Amino acid sequence: MTTLHRLPLTPPPIRNETLGSYLHRLAMANNRPARSLAALLGPPPIGFSPISDDTSGWTPQSPANLAALTGRRVEKLARALPALASFLAVPCDHPTQLIGRACRCCSARRRAGTASVFTYIPIHQHLCIRHQRWTRATIDIPLAKLPAVLQAQHRLTRLAHRHRSDEIKDAFCSAQKILRGWTTTQLPIDLTPDWNSRLERIRDHPPGRGISSQDQQLVASFPDTVTLTALVLSPPTGSDARTTYLAATTELEDRYARPYNAPGIRDPLYQYFRKSQIA
Ligand SMILES: [Zn+2]
Repeated sequence: MTTLHRLPLTPPPIRNETLGSYLHRLAMANNRPARSLAALLGPPPIGFSPISDDTSGWTPQSPANLAALTGRRVEKLARALPALASFLAVPCDHPTQLIGRACRCCSARRRAGTASVFTYIPIHQHLCIRHQRWTRATIDIPLAKLPAVLQAQHRLTRLAHRHRSDEIKDAFCSAQKILRGWTTTQLPIDLTPDWNSRLERIRDHPPGRGISSQDQQLVASFPDTVTLTALVLSPPTGSDARTTYLAATTELEDRYARPYNAPGIRDPLYQYFRKSQIA
């Protein structure tokens, strides 16, 4: 058996980090190919990448090898790396819903180096509140000039305290679908001034030019997606889809203080209530 030596540079793992992310960061810090480093623990999974979190090729010796390479105790590594904890069958309370990129400022505070860090995050978390940065894009999007986006995240977090993560996920997806339907047909409430104002502030920031238009749109419409998510999670009580829909349009008029030009049965919001009442 080959004795593994500690790598010259061993950044610490970040809490709830994927194995792929940690191994890629170790490899980058030491100027080595990530795949060959991962192979010291066991055959890397097909398509090995920073979001990989697979120990299926590991042997009982693999955790000790990782400890030797990093100069860190297995127990300590397992507290940060859910896949290692799972391999060792030790309790781990990480959120299992989603693998996402951690905020650059948070990663820097934890001495993570320059590579992106991927961790398990709650399904409702779209941004870093502490550093006011949107993290669901290839680069962080500063939100200091977008208070509505920050407030929407707080609202979504409160909803997540009252609903299961699968309910939040489904409601958020339905809300996005309704908004997409509105933008491809006709917006029943004029949200264009709000979206344009937010898009301007995103593009004003120097990194704004590197952000895809799809990501810019997601950020700009996030407050409205969250408003619809809340409506989908707790719709007004109605005897049928039509009365529920009409009550919902009144709620939206009150919230936005703007008229709702109800297009009736063609409205994706009505279609949603009709389908959910049939289901
Ligand atoms: Zn942060």
